[in-house]
Amino acid sequence: MFCPFCSAQDTKVIDSRLVADGSQVRRRRACNECQERFTTFESAELLMPRLIKSDGRREPFDDEKLLVGIHRALEKRPVSLEAIEVGVNNLKSKLRATGEREIPSKMVGELVMDLLKALDKIAYIRFASVYRSFEDVKEFGEEIAKLDP
Ligand SMILES: [Zn+2]
Repeated sequence: MFCPFCSAQDTKVIDSRLVADGSQVRRRRACNECQERFTTFESAELLMPRLIKSDGRREPFDDEKLLVGIHRALEKRPVSLEAIEVGVNNLKSKLRATGEREIPSKMVGELVMDLLKALDKIAYIRFASVYRSFEDVKEFGEEIAKLDP
């Protein structure tokens, strides 16, 4: 692995541990040339199912899109990055566990809502209001009513 500081090829692993519920390995590396240290993450590449949009179009599962949506909902909320990471990894495991090659994108939205509901009620409401586009106004009102003042 090249050193990101000086591009030397000679780097060594100085520490290695499991993170994100054991689905990733975090390695601390040190460059033998410039002595700088850096971190790498390694995770198994598992195929995510493709998504079937409501109009029937298929698109590849987009990690980035998922994370952006979740982080936007959780903006300025007291939820740790680690809790988010664990939740997102669980969500993706659930999708892979379906064993399906294609799943309705709606299913992802429902899982994100479950995740946010467990992490932070305000984030859940934020996400649900966008995701459901108020098609479910009654339920939405009920969720808000359940919030602590
Ligand atoms: Zn270096």
